[in-house]
Parts: sequence; C-alpha cells; structure tokens
Amino acid sequence: MQNKDLQNCPPSRFSPSMRGKKLALLQKSLSHRLISWFSAHQRPLPWRQTTDPYLIWVSEIMLQQTQVATVVPYFSRFILHYPSVHRLAAAPLEEVLSLWAGLGYYSRATRLHRCAKFICTYRNGRFPSTRTELMALPGIGRYTAGAIASIAFGQSVPVLDGNVIRVLTRLLAIPDDIAAPVTHTLLWAIADQLVPSAHAGTYNQAIMELGATVCLPRHPHCGRCPVQGLCLAHRRSLQNALPVKTAAPRPRKSHCLTVVIEAAGKFLLLKRPPGGLWSSLWEFPTFHTITEPTTANRAAHIIRSALGLYVNSIRPISPLRHQLTHRTFEYQIWHARMDMPPPGLSLPDCDRGQYQDFAWVHAVAERPCGAITRKIRERLC
Ligand code: SF4
Repeated sequence: MQNKDLQNCPPSRFSPSMRGKKLALLQKSLSHRLISWFSAHQRPLPWRQTTDPYLIWVSEIMLQQTQVATVVPYFSRFILHYPSVHRLAAAPLEEVLSLWAGLGYYSRATRLHRCAKFICTYRNGRFPSTRTELMALPGIGRYTAGAIASIAFGQSVPVLDGNVIRVLTRLLAIPDDIAAPVTHTLLWAIADQLVPSAHAGTYNQAIMELGATVCLPRHPHCGRCPVQGLCLAHRRSLQNALPVKTAAPRPRKSHCLTVVIEAAGKFLLLKRPPGGLWSSLWEFPTFHTITEPTTANRAAHIIRSALGLYVNSIRPISPLRHQLTHRTFEYQIWHARMDMPPPGLSLPDCDRGQYQDFAWVHAVAERPCGAITRKIRERLC
C-alpha cells in the first residue's frame, strides 16, 4: 500500500536547481511558523532556556539514542555533580560512569569526559563558537556541533537527527531511502538551505520538537501541525508512507554465561577493558560464545579453570535477554558461593580482551555497572 502511494512521488524532483528555488520559497514561511509554534508549545525541559554550550552539549550527548523522559533525571543529576566543563574534566572517569549507569551507550560518557579534558587542557575551558571548530573537538560530530553552534552561539547551521529527517522527508515528500548515504547527504543539503539566518537555534529546536511531539513516526498529528499547509506529504496523503527506510538487518545473537560469585556477603566484579561495548564498566564474570545449556558441573568447571576459584555450591538463576540496536545477548546465569574471597585472582578474557581488574564488593552499585549487571543483581534477591 505504501509503495503504491509513493509511485506518484518521483525522486528526480530534487535536482539541485529545483531544490534551490523550492527551498528558498519554503524557508521563510517554515521558520516563522515553527518558531511561533515552538514558543507556545515547547516542553519545559531542563536544558531549554539556556545558551550555555556546556549544558547544551551534555543534553545533546545524553539524548542520542535515548528518550527525553529517561534523560531528564540523569541530566539534572549530572549537572548538579558537574556544573561546568572544568568540574567534569577534573572528575575521575569511574565516577562519571557511575553517574551514567542505567542510561546505556556508555562510550558516550567516556567521550564526554575525554572531550571535557581536551577543552580544559587546550582551550582553557572555553567552547569554540563555530561548527567547524566544534567538529575539531574529540567526539563531536556534525549534528552535535550544529546544535551547540546554533543554540549557544546563534550560528546559522542546521541539525539533522531522526526527528528532523522525518519532518523534512514528509514536508518535501522525499521518497528516497533514508538509510542510503546519498539521501543523508541530500537531507543535510536541504537542512542547510532551510535554516534561517536569524534565530537558527530556536528554529533547530522547533523542528526537532515538531518531530518528537507532532510529526510522529506512526500516525502523525497533522490536524495540529503548524506547517500542515506547507506539507506535501499531507497534501498527497503520504504521511504514513514516509520516510522510506530499508529494513535494518536482524540483530546478531550472542550467547553468554555469567557467574555471580558470592563470598562472605561480597560479590566478585570484573572490570572490562577500555573501548567498545560497556567500556571500562564492571560486571559479573561473563564468558561469551557459550551456546549449549550449561550444567552446574560445567559452570563450576568454568569458574575453576577461568578464575582459579573453587565454589561450595552453585544454582541457576533464570536466564536474561538484553537487546541492543544491533545485537541480542542471551545470558545463562549461575549463582555460586564460596567461604572467603581470596586475596588474588587470575583475570580471564572477556569478549573484548582481558578483564582489567577485579573487586569484591558488598553492593554492585559501588562500582559503575551496566544495566544487565544491575538486573542480574536484582534477580538474586
Ligand atoms: S502535516 Fe503531518 S506529516 Fe506534514 S509535517 Fe505536519 S505532522 Fe508531519
């Protein structure tokens, strides 16, 4: 049904010369309507009403791949702990990761911390004001640089996230596959031409807010959309068929065996190596590529051979599944007990190389841990 609808929508309409004329006509009306609507309807979020580049930067990094409602309490707590880029740069990474625990995609926290150190070391704690200079900072890409440059410094540069992509493809009835790099390039060029020379930061926030609250992925609220009169998708009843996106490949499945080892009321945690998934976070010892259902004897044998520990008892915990965007993790979990924590330990390998350190802790929250470790801990109660 959707493909049939799109047959009336030829992709060639967006040749560069056509685009220039159409977009010049659209730009003024679009920004005027969006900015007026935004001033009356924006959600009161803690990173709004500020032009502090540090606060805008932190909020934009937290909002990547994460819902606004989830980010709000994390943002407030983070800013309370680190009210300035200097305070963030001076904090130990372990502490930053602890504050991030539960928000997911932990490499964001590591990058944020690294960039804060860079800004303090090489720029005396001051953010540059242009998109080009911002993009030269470690871990800041075109989107984040556009958001900071426009909202904090008023530079006339666009942003392009999932919400903006949806609004633009519908407004202009663009039928091209948004998963294709060429479409992405086209959309950046369109966004560049539509951003107004004045109030670019407000316009950028407004178009993102429209995508987040009105122009929803399914069943957009066209009846209360401030730009309905400009929208080609609405005019052609294509709003539910756009944007077009080829299906993502099915997430890869990974099988893991996790062992919770308890001794005298303390739990054994291991620190993951830096880089990649769950970089530098602590977790219960986890062994990957174990696809067969494991018996108690086999689990005890793995603990003995990988960690050099002899346990007194072992019992299964109900298995867990953890879903990331591109991977699904299936965990078999065992809870083993021993008398006393030994002073030393041979550090085994995990999926990304060797674990870096170990600790026996009363509460897993004492160390920065990912969501799966905390979920497993809850299952022990
Ligand atoms: S009219 Fe509908 S489809 Fe068009 S931009 Fe507004 S909400 Fe989106």
